Amino acid sequence: MIHYWCTICQSARAVAKTKTNDASVWKDGFLFVGNHLALDFLNTRPVQDGEAVELLPDFAALLRWFQTAGLLSPRDVAGLKRHWGQSVEARRTIEAIRGLRESLRKEILTWEDGGTPQYSTIDELNRLMTAYPMSTRLKTNGKELSAELHFEPQCPGDLFAPVAHAAAMLLASADRNRVRKCDQCMLHFVDTSKKGTRRWCSMQLCGNRLKVAAYAARRRSASVER
Ligand SMILES: [Zn+2]
Repeated sequence: MIHYWCTICQSARAVAKTKTNDASVWKDGFLFVGNHLALDFLNTRPVQDGEAVELLPDFAALLRWFQTAGLLSPRDVAGLKRHWGQSVEARRTIEAIRGLRESLRKEILTWEDGGTPQYSTIDELNRLMTAYPMSTRLKTNGKELSAELHFEPQCPGDLFAPVAHAAAMLLASADRNRVRKCDQCMLHFVDTSKKGTRRWCSMQLCGNRLKVAAYAARRRSASVER
């Protein structure tokens, strides 16, 4: 059983919690630079040295990503692996979830540019959210009440629940002026900076590379002028 905060409903708290830390840009072999679950999911296929790298090659990797994202406990992962690890359902789920990721990638790029997602994608997200719904639980600390999303997967298909929900929330509720693709690579993020001028996925991955290139270009033009 696991609980997690809806990043949309609890944006201020979640943003503070998930704010990009360049020093730890890779976490257990995954990237969490998106400031949004849907974008972190999209970012499981980054490009390194000009080649796309699949970070979700199999069901075990998918479970690891869910655990690193804080969606599953180690115990949940062990249970799902034990019951479903070698199953046809697990294989189908990993293939289907990667397919969803790639159609979302196209839609999110269009949406970031002011376009509208295709009806077929909206239908698909609605189908997934109906088949694999997230539930809401009311919680109290003795003083205040809060509502949180609840996710308790019993079978591989249930893993669609938080992914489909996060994608729907992104498209419906996020400020698209603040959602963009890195200038230099294919990673996406929600810009939570004060000025709203974040251009790259992270300083460590693309920012430094760009600064070094700009510095080299300035040096070159300075030596030409001399
Ligand atoms: Zn980048």
